[in-house]
Amino acid sequence: MGPPGAGKGTQATGVAEHFGVPAISTGDIFRANVSNGTELGRKAKEFMDAGEYVPDEVTNLMVRNRIDEPDAEPGFLLDGYPRTLAQVEELDGMIKHTGHSLDAVVVLTVDSEELVQRLLQRAETDGRSDDTEDVIRRRQELYIEQTEPLIEVYREHGILIEVDGMGEVDEVSERIFKALQDVNES
Ligand code: ADP
Repeated sequence: MGPPGAGKGTQATGVAEHFGVPAISTGDIFRANVSNGTELGRKAKEFMDAGEYVPDEVTNLMVRNRIDEPDAEPGFLLDGYPRTLAQVEELDGMIKHTGHSLDAVVVLTVDSEELVQRLLQRAETDGRSDDTEDVIRRRQELYIEQTEPLIEVYREHGILIEVDGMGEVDEVSERIFKALQDVNES
């Protein structure tokens, strides 16, 4: 977890590789569906372009189908999901069904000034259609309203790990590996 620009996508790929599990990024799956012009992409696009969350029923079904794939059987890392309290409950139900359990929830913390710099930089290099000023602002707002409260929920569950997301990509990765290794060993 982490606000837009915290480095979730970047770190998710490295962490999943390190632990030999697939990284399941809802944002990436939506973007791939938009590029391929699928029905799911058609449903998601207008929400994504406005910085809004895609409706829960669309997102939930997509994640449910993805974690049922054979490569997710030994475990998986979710990037960008859950983002709402309803998704937290839905995820609990899904993993009860697949026989998995949530080992840890990693939150990346980054200064707000640094977040803005990173998003502006990404707007120049990646050209994502949701990296414009107004849309970034809306995504930040939604994160604070709907997603940040999940941090307390997972803290209460005792599985929250807060990691300093400032600094070089590799430094942050090392912090995450270390924190997750400690969870594995305990
Ligand atoms: P970022 O990490 O920069 O916030 P993502 O690439 O994870 O962005 O997601 C991009 C967009 O995809 C979101 O703004 C939202 O519209 C949609 N999306 C991704 N994950 C979810 C989710 N769990 N629930 C609803 N919408 C989502």
